[in-house]
Amino acid sequence: MPRSACGGARNDKANMNDDLMQKIVALCKRRGFIYPGSEIYGGLGGTWDYGPLGVELKNNIKRQWWKDVVQLREDMVGIDSAIMLNPKVWEASGHVEAFTDPLVECKVCHARFRADHTRETLEHEKSHDGKVEWTQPQKFNLLVKAYLGVLEDKQSEIYLRGEITQGVHVNFKNVLDSTRVKIPFGIAQVGKSFRNEITPGNFTFRSREFEQMEIQYYIDPKGKEDQKWFEYWKKQRMDWYLSLGIKKENLRFRDHEEKERAHYAKAATDIEYNSPFGWSEFEGIHHRGDWDLSRHEQYSGQDMKYRDPDTGEEYLPWVIETSGGVDRAALFLLVDAYSEEGGRTILKLHQKLAPYKVAVFPLLANKPKLVGLAKKIYQDLKQDFISAWDDRGNIGGRYASQDEIGTPFCVTVDFQSLEDEMVTVRDRDSAKQERVKIVDLKSYLHGKID
Ligand code: ATP
Repeated sequence: MPRSACGGARNDKANMNDDLMQKIVALCKRRGFIYPGSEIYGGLGGTWDYGPLGVELKNNIKRQWWKDVVQLREDMVGIDSAIMLNPKVWEASGHVEAFTDPLVECKVCHARFRADHTRETLEHEKSHDGKVEWTQPQKFNLLVKAYLGVLEDKQSEIYLRGEITQGVHVNFKNVLDSTRVKIPFGIAQVGKSFRNEITPGNFTFRSREFEQMEIQYYIDPKGKEDQKWFEYWKKQRMDWYLSLGIKKENLRFRDHEEKERAHYAKAATDIEYNSPFGWSEFEGIHHRGDWDLSRHEQYSGQDMKYRDPDTGEEYLPWVIETSGGVDRAALFLLVDAYSEEGGRTILKLHQKLAPYKVAVFPLLANKPKLVGLAKKIYQDLKQDFISAWDDRGNIGGRYASQDEIGTPFCVTVDFQSLEDEMVTVRDRDSAKQERVKIVDLKSYLHGKID
């Protein structure tokens, strides 16, 4: 096995990073962001369930992405294709033949690993005191098989989609025929993908069931503008992550070398995140040429060409794709937002992404007047913001509890509120408190959050 630089002796930084991941995994479970899949039955490798806070975070990410890439643009439309596609789609796309990872097996205990994941294989060698022999790498196809129909035979065998991309390309003509799009334009999609990953791991980073958010952007190949569009989308996607508050020093581009790229890809770059387990792929930006449309034309026998409405000219467009993982976004946003300051654990999530925008507390739970006013404010705020209610323990404990899940604002109703119709609003990151009139509370919060 090749030896990688990251396989050296454990150092302080590595231990700190392991510690950080453990804290995040524990926080996710304890506070209801992410649970191991099918946990009561001992789990199912590479699957995760999102809890009450996790589903809010994930929905916020997807909603923000959709708003920025579809709703606010004039050159984009969205679709939601089926997860189960005609198996010919995967023959045409090349997945049946080439969607493989190199698999090696430990001859001692028969554990299986990805040959190119040197950190895992090295750790495995250490667990056998270095006395490991490996099989030669074999190609292992990642498509997940399923049966559709009443017979479990070859004819009813299908694949769960290994990427959401193909559901867009097979609908290229439908979108052209049913909308007013004109090249250059893009089709966006968000949805689940399934891969029989050999070594799922690093929490949700590599799962067997995960969500992707993708843009397929169609351009005219003759315009010689492909490099321009490729650079444009690289910048757009990097700027998007920065706009969500991810620290600049934790993001970088990594261009793929030619030997790394799929044979049809004319260019490929990853946006990587500086994660506790090293720089890791966050999103890919790929120049796919006309690979997908030409293959679907060939395999389906249907004409997939675009007809220019002004010149009448027909051609197969080229595609620039951006493909990001929703689960990786949720994980890296949590990692990036996690901080410990003066004994406080704070998730400094962007206001737009925080599961709860505001929490409302009556100072004391046994004072009906305080509770009544606080409930009224809570019910009113709920109309505009996802809001939390907490009347347990002391105020300090309630602040700490909201900081840990990233709630940007806490509103406390105290005895003074009954007199002056004002409440205390406390800011998560600065811990500063401000008195705000109850009648102005909604517009105050809109001003901070929207
Ligand atoms: P990797 O090299 O990490 O296996 P990939 O290059 O195969 O990823 P793509 O096929 O380009 O990934 O998928 C696009 C995006 O989908 C990735 O950048 C990632 O965010 C997400 N993704 C891919 N595989 C997984 C997975 N197993 N679990 C979670 N997210 C994934």
